[in-house]
Amino acid sequence: MKAATVCPLDCPDGCSLEVTIEDGRIASIDGTHVNPVTEGYICAKVRRFPERVYGPDRLMYPAIRKGPKGLASFQRVTWEEALATIAERMVDTRREFGGEAILPYSYGGSNGMLTQDTSDATLFRRLGASRLARTVCAAPTGAANLSMYGKMPSVSYEDFEDARLIIIWGGNPSASGIHLVPHIREAQRRGAMLVVVDPRKTPLARQADIHLAVRPGTDLPVALSLHRYLFEEGHADEAFLQAHARGVERLRERARAWTFERAAAEADIPVETLRQVPLFESLDDEATHELCDLLENLDCKAGAVLFRAGDDGQERNRNGGSASLAILALPAVGGKFAERGGGYMMSNSASWGITNTWTGAQEPATRVINMNRLGRALLESTPPINLLFVYNSNPAVTTPDQRRVLRGLEREDLFTVVFEQVMTDTARYADVLLPNTTFLEGYDLVKSYGPWTINLGRPVIEPIGESRCNAEVFGELLELTGLREESDPRGELEEMLNVLDRLPGTTGDEVRDAGTAKPPFDGRPIQFRDVFPRTVDQKIDLYPEALAKESSAGLYVYHPDPATSEFPLALISPASEKTISSTLAEIPRPEVRLLMHPEDAEARGIADGDEIRIFNALGEVTCTAALGAWIRRGTVSLPKGLWRKHTLNGYTGTSLVPDTLTDVAGGACFNDARVQVAKV
Ligand code: SF4
Repeated sequence: MKAATVCPLDCPDGCSLEVTIEDGRIASIDGTHVNPVTEGYICAKVRRFPERVYGPDRLMYPAIRKGPKGLASFQRVTWEEALATIAERMVDTRREFGGEAILPYSYGGSNGMLTQDTSDATLFRRLGASRLARTVCAAPTGAANLSMYGKMPSVSYEDFEDARLIIIWGGNPSASGIHLVPHIREAQRRGAMLVVVDPRKTPLARQADIHLAVRPGTDLPVALSLHRYLFEEGHADEAFLQAHARGVERLRERARAWTFERAAAEADIPVETLRQVPLFESLDDEATHELCDLLENLDCKAGAVLFRAGDDGQERNRNGGSASLAILALPAVGGKFAERGGGYMMSNSASWGITNTWTGAQEPATRVINMNRLGRALLESTPPINLLFVYNSNPAVTTPDQRRVLRGLEREDLFTVVFEQVMTDTARYADVLLPNTTFLEGYDLVKSYGPWTINLGRPVIEPIGESRCNAEVFGELLELTGLREESDPRGELEEMLNVLDRLPGTTGDEVRDAGTAKPPFDGRPIQFRDVFPRTVDQKIDLYPEALAKESSAGLYVYHPDPATSEFPLALISPASEKTISSTLAEIPRPEVRLLMHPEDAEARGIADGDEIRIFNALGEVTCTAALGAWIRRGTVSLPKGLWRKHTLNGYTGTSLVPDTLTDVAGGACFNDARVQVAKV
């Protein structure tokens, strides 16, 4: 039997899937054409999802802790017992300490619009719980896109083929959003130039005409130096800016100091030559003057220029907000809109003009806790957090300053509920553990953030064990806490109808019949021809004052590299072909190794395969080293989404990440981890 559904992983593509069922079990998962972007093929990640569904880590029934926290020592209980315990604790906590002593902790894990911000939000709003700032990913890029362009719909995947110059900045579609890659290749086949800005030689960087292997956190000066060039060499499209932009002079002024020499030195590109040779004095030296080559094409002669700004690569550092703004401002200053294949592409999550919040419950004016500072919140906040409810998330391994987070989770007076599919590192700390259905066992609606599609997810198998869906569990808790109202949707199907009925430009029946919602635009809209900024005056805001107020120094101000002589190496943790988040990391994988440039390794007496320590003032990770020149010198890399079992000492890369925040929007500074590496 074949059944249709949709991939819910945190990936731009939102692939439509066909699941083969044999004897009531999933035999295989493949791609279809319901979401046209999928083109009948999918990546290896979701193909392995049955290993999560039927794997040894799957949670089968509710349980209550019976041993020390963190040891995953549980005793099976009934759902009634588990939910009654949680509801009683919620009511008692609110009465005794106030609703703010309760903190719900969740993020967009393997879930869609139905499994987040529906009945869960209703429950926590009515409890008057602390509110969570969901900032671990895409907060600065989202804020930049919203403030500058009002999240104008982006260039479609197909239109990449019409670009003459494509600049991929801080993204790696070969690992996340793979369906963009063939369109980039087709553009190259038609003669387009490809530039990749990334500290690693990603597969696309290897095929690029220019690879700017910048030091992590230096995207801002590099982008500002491009602005300076455009403004000062007469290549800015002043007429376009006059007609369509605000804040031009502020950007011009902030870019003025960033000569190519200064930016290249800061970004350390290329190491030996850029510090010595002023780039524009020897345009014919291609090998060493990459920025010049890029700029020749930026000066409006090359045809359509397309910027694919990463959804988070350039944001995960102290300069992340301004870097994202400066990159997004490049097509505006260059006047690169209004033709097919020109403009920018970023997350399209807001293109439908709908929010993800479907609850009718009013949001309380309670305190906001930034999820990137969970450890601090659990250990230091006043009033203290006494009840933590974790779902769709695995903060024990995904949140900065892991050791502090773990100390918080160890608090004996903290009552922790974890609602999960498998025994994650966070689940091991639960006081009450609830088994959750996967996307293959329930309904959902998945809004892609690359293409404009909303696809219907349907259950293709019965729930495994006693697992239950979000709508059912949060609905029960509303009932048991006495917070349910008559008009609240009851159960998963009513919840879905509630969401379907509020989708713009499509009907619930259409979505149910076709498995997909009609997109809000015809064809492939061209920016500044078919779609325009959704700002109040439809202008591009190059210096958004509201964001500037968040940063003490204002926008486009570079904060220097936090490296010290003690901890000189920049540690990054990008998504891989195995994991985009910590979801699916329970599935066996080859040994996890730290990627190092051979010269960095040699300087430390480290050989390929050696056991090593990666350390700084916050913590230490032990694993083995993999040497390769596909990462720049001075930067080392561990894969994103690791679990504690993947390293030799049980700590992941997040134990080395400070819980400092980005210049705007409170994002995580994963790429600001500065470390030393030594052979064990
Ligand atoms: S992870 Fe992305 S590419 Fe892979 S199947 Fe899901 S949506 Fe498609």
